[in-house]
Amino acid sequence: VKESGKNNCLLYSEEWDNSSLERLKLQHDLKQAVQKGEFILHYQPQYDLSSGSIVGVEALVRWQHPVRGLVPPSHFIPLAEESGMIVQIGDWVLEEACRQNKAWQDEELPFIPVSVNLSIRQFLQQNLTEKVAHILARTGLEARYLDLEITESMTMDVNHASICLLELTKLGLNISIDDFGTGYSSFHYLKKLPIGRLKIDRSFVRDIEQDPGDAAIVAAIISMAHNLNLQVIAEGVENEAQMHFLQKHQCDEMQGFIWSAPVEGSRIAEMLKSVAAV
Ligand code: C2E
Ligand code: CA
Ligand code: CA
Ligand code: CA
Repeated sequence: VKESGKNNCLLYSEEWDNSSLERLKLQHDLKQAVQKGEFILHYQPQYDLSSGSIVGVEALVRWQHPVRGLVPPSHFIPLAEESGMIVQIGDWVLEEACRQNKAWQDEELPFIPVSVNLSIRQFLQQNLTEKVAHILARTGLEARYLDLEITESMTMDVNHASICLLELTKLGLNISIDDFGTGYSSFHYLKKLPIGRLKIDRSFVRDIEQDPGDAAIVAAIISMAHNLNLQVIAEGVENEAQMHFLQKHQCDEMQGFIWSAPVEGSRIAEMLKSVAAV
């Protein structure tokens, strides 16, 4: 067990792959966490780059461990994916994100979509569309206020992805491609699949000012997206120079520490309230 100075919370050792004992312990704890409901969601606002207003939020899962404190997703999502537990965790995330979004709407805050990360295991479930439809019905959230983030790797089998995504988008929700530019798939899928938005990966945004290659890639992604009638959002925006670059190149939206880290749902309500008051 290590202590993280930054958040002052206890974490699983980053070397857990090397210790099968620790892995087993983590797996055991994860199973219990699912049963005990130890997960919480934080939300990171997404901003319109021309108006500066909040146009969405991304739900990001955290594990509130009774002893170890707040565990970040990088410390348990990989094992959850490997062991298949991601499906149960993901079901909970989806329902909780929809419930929270409906609760904000019921407080008469501005209506915005919530983005939920989907893992490949969830994507391969036969009954995913049914599940999503049930969750929307149960929580009362309209489908257009839900956005599902998938990665390029899930589009490798274009035929499967196309069946699956058509079903999902028929419900009325939106699909975004997360971490765009980091996968190995071809761009073939972009015109074949019902995608609404590309999310430029943080790794291209980071050195946008120093690295002409990254700058060229970001500019090219934005213009390609627009030519394909897709919205484009940049993630990991940390400073003004990055933001100005994105504005200059007419990127639609951005998300990053420059405006807000992921925060609790109650903070999002306050942010939306102050927007509504203006
Ligand atoms: P992601 O989907 O790419 O999420 C963005 C990550 O970047 C988040 O980390 C967020 O806190 C962080 N971030 C946001 N703005 C900035 C910034 O300006 N600078 C930097 N350096 N980082 C920024 P987080 O919350 O630790 O999540 C990490 C990853 O865990 C996510 O990457 C996603 O792949 C996965 N994850 C999180 N929640 C879920 C979930 O509910 N289901 C699934 N399947 N995966 C999830
Ligand atoms: Ca994401
Ligand atoms: Ca991402
Ligand atoms: Ca990323």
